[in-house]
Amino acid sequence: MDVTIIGGGVAGLSLAHELAPDHDVTVLESSSGPRGGGFMIDFFGPGFIAAERMGVIEELRSRGHAFDGVRYGTPDGADSGRIDVGPLVDAAGGRYFSILRPEVELGLLAVLPSSVDLRYSARVTAVHDPTLDGAPASGRAAVELGDGTTLESDLIVACDGVRSVARELVAPGHGPIVPMGYRATSYLYDDPELAAELGERLLMTDTVGRVGWAYAAGGGRVGVMLAERVDSEHTRRPTPDRDRLQRQFAGLHPQVDRALAHAPESFYDDLVAQAIAPRLHRGRVVLTGDAAHAPSLLAGQGTSVAIAGAEALARSLRATGPYVEAGLAEYERRWRPTAEKVQRSGRRSAAFFTPAGPAQLRLQQIARRAIGLPGVSRLVARSVLAP
Ligand SMILES: Cc1cc2nc3c(=O)[nH]c(=O)nc-3n(C[C@H](O)[C@H](O)[C@H](O)COP(=O)(O)OP(=O)(O)OC[C@H]3O[C@@H](n4cnc5c(N)ncnc54)[C@H](O)[C@@H]3O)c2cc1C
Repeated sequence: MDVTIIGGGVAGLSLAHELAPDHDVTVLESSSGPRGGGFMIDFFGPGFIAAERMGVIEELRSRGHAFDGVRYGTPDGADSGRIDVGPLVDAAGGRYFSILRPEVELGLLAVLPSSVDLRYSARVTAVHDPTLDGAPASGRAAVELGDGTTLESDLIVACDGVRSVARELVAPGHGPIVPMGYRATSYLYDDPELAAELGERLLMTDTVGRVGWAYAAGGGRVGVMLAERVDSEHTRRPTPDRDRLQRQFAGLHPQVDRALAHAPESFYDDLVAQAIAPRLHRGRVVLTGDAAHAPSLLAGQGTSVAIAGAEALARSLRATGPYVEAGLAEYERRWRPTAEKVQRSGRRSAAFFTPAGPAQLRLQQIARRAIGLPGVSRLVARSVLAP
């Protein structure tokens, strides 16, 4: 059948990889090429296992990195604790590494079958399904593109991220994002000196209301991520503003201040949000990845569940062959519990990353010390890694 995938990010490319042997696949991606926005992600859990099944894990691992762990730092530059990644890696049976998000996309592109028709600068503006809104007359599902053209297909899969154009059609009333009360920024820049100082540990600031991360991202680059608490009423994507960024996050830690001084003109800046869809498919339109169930960046598992969800959808479609509706129903039945579990964990971990006040910060510091005790680290590792 003809399958149109909206979005050539992690979910879209994973799905295209899996569907290409059996179907005619077109991927429509709004950006002009692979998106460079970089932040380091921890890759483990259901996506790791899915990537093994897909045969792409070695490609991804070759682009990854093994950090020693996290170092916590206070505004005066002192170290206030550390967590080693070793117990997590052991508890995951070695199925755990760090990788820059754009490298996941580039790795999937490197193994994308040549039969996939991947179109950049192709923004989808509307989605139609004959069983839902009566259009188009041909009885096939269709997408409208920004250039005024229409593309019909037998199945449309929305992999277009947390602000999906298709979610409202599939799950009416659930089109908007669900902000979690945080705003996050990230960027990469060249700074061999700071990269060497940061070494093999990510720096995370031990601060209230605002938090910063800095890490050596390879090739003399430094990666920075900054998050702050904001009003959860707003859903509009904020406009990146370098001056505001430098003012807002000044004083978290001397190394973060140095990295802030090099903030580029343009950088990733968005609200931390979830996408909630009580149903994942309707007619011939189906959601996967962040479009279906964004757990938010603070869950630290968005990429993993995006790959796993896409692979689960492809597996269900493969199993049911020509009975596409049955495949979509099977995907929803099998996949929803995992997606919901990761979303719950995302809601819990948000507060952990950016403590609201000194008392909460203190509790975290105590919890961190407990993690250092023999046995506890393994327990924590298991609970983090549980799919
Ligand atoms: C700062 C930050 C840190 C994160 N940290 C982690 C982490 O540690 N671990 C982790 O696993 N995850 C992390 N994530 C989350 C992770 O990046 C996402 O959950 C994951 O990339 C989801 O993939 P996706 O393909 O579903 O969506 P996306 O990556 O958002 O891809 C959607 C694609 O669709 C395209 N698109 C959007 N609208 C349209 C349209 N109308 N027409 C055509 N194309 C369109 C976009 O350009 C994009 O390429 C983090 C995210 C952020 C922002």
